[in-house]
Amino acid sequence: TVPDRIRNFCIIAHIDHGKSTLADRMLQLTEVVDARQMRAQYLDRMDIERERGITIKSQAVRMPWSVREGDLAGEQFVLNMIDTPGHVDFTYEVSRSLAACEGAVLLVDAAQGIEAQTLANLYLALENDMTIIPVLNKIDLPAAQPEKYAEELAHLIGCDPDDCLRVSGKTGVGVAHLLDEIVRQLPTPGAGSGDGTARAMIFDSVYDVYRGVVTYVRVVDGRLGARDRIRMMSTGAVHELLEIGVISPEPIKSDGLGAGEVGYLITGVKDVRQSRVGDTVTINAKPATEPLGGYKDPKPMVYSGLYPIDGSDYPLLRDALDKLKLNDAALVYEPETSAALGFGFRCGFLGLLHLEIIQERLEREFNLDLISTAPNVVYRVIMEDGKEHAVTNPSEFPDGKSSNIFEPTVRATVLTPNDFVGAVMELCQGRRGSLQGMDYLSADRVELRYTLPLGEIIYDFFDQLKSRTKGYASLDYEPSGEQQADLVKVDILLHGEPVDAFSSIVHKDKAYNYGVTIASKLQKLIPRQQFEVPIQAAIGSRIIARETIRAIRKDVLAKCYGGDISRKRKLLEKQKEGKKRMKMVGRVEVPQEAFIAALSTS
Ligand code: GDP
Ligand code: MG
Repeated sequence: TVPDRIRNFCIIAHIDHGKSTLADRMLQLTEVVDARQMRAQYLDRMDIERERGITIKSQAVRMPWSVREGDLAGEQFVLNMIDTPGHVDFTYEVSRSLAACEGAVLLVDAAQGIEAQTLANLYLALENDMTIIPVLNKIDLPAAQPEKYAEELAHLIGCDPDDCLRVSGKTGVGVAHLLDEIVRQLPTPGAGSGDGTARAMIFDSVYDVYRGVVTYVRVVDGRLGARDRIRMMSTGAVHELLEIGVISPEPIKSDGLGAGEVGYLITGVKDVRQSRVGDTVTINAKPATEPLGGYKDPKPMVYSGLYPIDGSDYPLLRDALDKLKLNDAALVYEPETSAALGFGFRCGFLGLLHLEIIQERLEREFNLDLISTAPNVVYRVIMEDGKEHAVTNPSEFPDGKSSNIFEPTVRATVLTPNDFVGAVMELCQGRRGSLQGMDYLSADRVELRYTLPLGEIIYDFFDQLKSRTKGYASLDYEPSGEQQADLVKVDILLHGEPVDAFSSIVHKDKAYNYGVTIASKLQKLIPRQQFEVPIQAAIGSRIIARETIRAIRKDVLAKCYGGDISRKRKLLEKQKEGKKRMKMVGRVEVPQEAFIAALSTS
């Protein structure tokens, strides 16, 4: 297809504003999927995505469209729709998907108005110089206020309220008109440089059990032919092309992809790390010299220890992580041992949702029962002797004098109704946030911009925000570097022995609170022993909080009054079994359940 017959677009929206439903209607209208094959959210392929109603991995679909109305009526075009992941953890992948398109449909729920992810995605689209088509969705809802939100949207992007299209992804109203407008308003992809070298950008890379890695690309210059050997520009690795084609909605082989086109390629590599999002593909025989811009290595932002509840599942957990890694270039892990939890892995994630997704897939697809330690961020610690450490596990925070500690920060955007501005500010300030700016989007809705430590928002920030605003506020954030902070490591000691799973790095003003909370929690959860057990919270050698588990004399045999031997034996066996799931911390026996309970509620 020649570039001026191609339109590449994506749909950007806040979660639940109806992106997947609208995409479904487009697939139907363009007859790429017929009504018989249609199932809701056709593009959300992973089970977990369907159940949670979120899109994790983007997909690209080619749709033929014959314009219905106006001057171009009857003319044939090819529309490539690229479905972007909608969540903050995947900002980089979103930005690559956007970079593969010339334009974006900015979809806003006509009963909700603009939300934080609407803004975050819009800003990303504007940074990529994309053409924006503003669209109000769900106009079939009785609660829809298209006039009001058209004003808001027009104000935001600087257009006329009448330029905002109105559709219903549910009933299909306005969707054909939207497809016509995509053809009319979006720029053509451009023919690329004419020097004969080829460049294509990878915007997604998915592991498939049968076919190996399927790589999604947007060709920017030249042409990738089915017989070419390709080269990945970030690594120089050369691969044979086994197959190249387009998705519509199933893969269709072709003899190549030209400038402006979007499609997939298969090389037989088995690991998405060899085919990375953001990388540039060129032809080995006649390589381009400069890669396309914007390549970044995925960088884990949040770490957590994952442990099998049943220690004998450890090899299963290792195999499961090895498998998931094939499909997830951002997942990192290494073995670690915890006195409290046994053998496990320290895993790095892009963010909290990423962590939850991996944990859920391990439990669901691999049948593992897991316990995870409280998530933490990565700290950069510079010691007085100038040595630098990147700390991904709080219990490994270096002893000795540090001169500087840096923590990662985020730029957060909160959208809230006017009434809750005070509550949101209080929350953000309590989390060491600093206000960067505040704007009224309309008379009753406010955008607040904060810089916050990432470590302060990965722990129940979103829940707090929702409960303080009766569910009305929305949040988006992106990494914004690091800042120096007064942080200390708080250790929790049981009978003088540190319990590694509870070590935490906290701001010095919050250390006391953390210590008291964990100590009193453990005091309630750990059964009495035959001797008195102190639980202490300490910063270095300084004790900041203390609780005590009083001693009992737990001699079960004493209850048997001599006589009954078989009953005695049964009791002994029972006691032995119970001990299996006990962990020894120094001299103290702790049921694993106590650790699990303390971690899950903390
Ligand atoms: P996404 O998170 O943006 O992909 O949103 P979905 O497409 O999954 O839709 C979220 C919810 O809104 C689902 O329950 C849909 O059935 C519903 N929905 C989507 N579009 C419409 C619409 O046009 N009208 C109505 N009434 N509901 C819609
Ligand atoms: Mg969706």
